[in-house]
Amino acid sequence: MELDQVWEKVVSMLSEEISAVSFNSWIKPIEAVRMTDSKIILEVPYSVNKNMIMTKYHSLIESCIETVTSKKRAIEVLVSEEIQSDNADPLREESTLNPRYTFDNFIVGSKNKIAYVAALAVAEAETPMRNYNPLFFYGGSGLGKTHMLQAIGNYYLENHPKKKVLYTTSEKFTYELVSAIRDKNNQSFRNKYRKVDLLLIDDVQFFANQEFAQEELFHTFNALYDKEKQIVLTSDRLPSEIPQLEERIKTRFSSGIVIDVQPPDYETRMAILKSKLQSEYLEVGDDIVAYVADNIKSNVRELEGAVKRIVLYAGIKRTNHITMDIAKEALTDIMKSQPRRRITAQLIISEVEKYYMLPKGSLVSPKRSRDVAYPRQVAMYICREILDDPSFPKIGESFGGRDHSTAMHNVDKIKKELTDNSELRTVVDEIITNIKRD
Ligand code: ADP
Ligand code: MG
Repeated sequence: MELDQVWEKVVSMLSEEISAVSFNSWIKPIEAVRMTDSKIILEVPYSVNKNMIMTKYHSLIESCIETVTSKKRAIEVLVSEEIQSDNADPLREESTLNPRYTFDNFIVGSKNKIAYVAALAVAEAETPMRNYNPLFFYGGSGLGKTHMLQAIGNYYLENHPKKKVLYTTSEKFTYELVSAIRDKNNQSFRNKYRKVDLLLIDDVQFFANQEFAQEELFHTFNALYDKEKQIVLTSDRLPSEIPQLEERIKTRFSSGIVIDVQPPDYETRMAILKSKLQSEYLEVGDDIVAYVADNIKSNVRELEGAVKRIVLYAGIKRTNHITMDIAKEALTDIMKSQPRRRITAQLIISEVEKYYMLPKGSLVSPKRSRDVAYPRQVAMYICREILDDPSFPKIGESFGGRDHSTAMHNVDKIKKELTDNSELRTVVDEIITNIKRD
């Protein structure tokens, strides 16, 4: 089949897959220029078209091509503007924003919801809301801070194409400052950083110890703040916890809104996995997704790693249908490095105490008031239900040396109550979930 015919078929398939508006904006302008055995080269007018295709339609187009030609071909997208002249979209060039990171492909869950809402609010505002400047995100590695920071920039630029956005890291800022000083070029450094509408600085914890960078940062910050320009910062810890950072900078960093980003909970991990697997066109059953979500917990980067492994194995096995065996095989190495939380009586006790908001140690204390005795019975019941070795003497022993008949009696009591108290069942299940998942 000739390229023209192939492309015509692909386009007609695409028109059925995506909305008319998106089709007209992003698919119609594409011109197919060349087809080889392994790829098809496409040309689009602007880099924004290319960005859109690479972020949103890339896999869809490739799978349509495969359907039409019965052969896997990668697409390569060229921008005509770039082909003709070299200065494609100077604004974006300067901002080094990565179009891969958008709000659209950011999965929101209970642990990042506040951060997401704040990020979107800032991205939507043309001029900063006073309380949100600066916006400071902190949290562990791989939890989506850079993603959100970049998404703010991309979103803002999309809605305000005339505005200037600058994304940088503390290291790049420091490096550029050093070069500017060396080349006696301070003014152009200042022009670059102080004449933007939105400044995004990633990983500010690395300003620790960089005294002259801190000095420059301080003035940059003030200049932008005074002109009511938005500043967004990320760090792996609270401003107050960054070592060797001047007090006045800590104060500036904390003067707007400081929001923590936490590791995703189970539901969010499921959602993230499903979304990433779906964009790879892999069929993966819920039980397998649950298996991964159960075992990989600490951050999103690792979840992505798991998806990449599964994709790799799907390729090796030449299938789009992932079975549990394939998933397990693909993930053996990753799983090995996961810290496993061993379920012990102590863990159960501490989760039950947390659930009922009791002081630590309450359940193993001699206290017998109902507010403690009842949660203790629940905890004993859970021990019996989920421990590997749930003998009554052991359970009694774990609760401050109580004897086995007490343990047996308590477990029985809860077991009976569970038969007609569905609310208690929910409570018990919730506690067990907490024990197993985090
Ligand atoms: P951090 O900057 O906090 O270390 P990143 O923003 O680099 O983390 O995130 C690591 C990877 O996980 C990136 O590829 C990012 O796109 C992805 N990611 C993180 N959080 C989410 C989320 N909520 N939804 C979808 N992808 C996410
Ligand atoms: Mg980051």
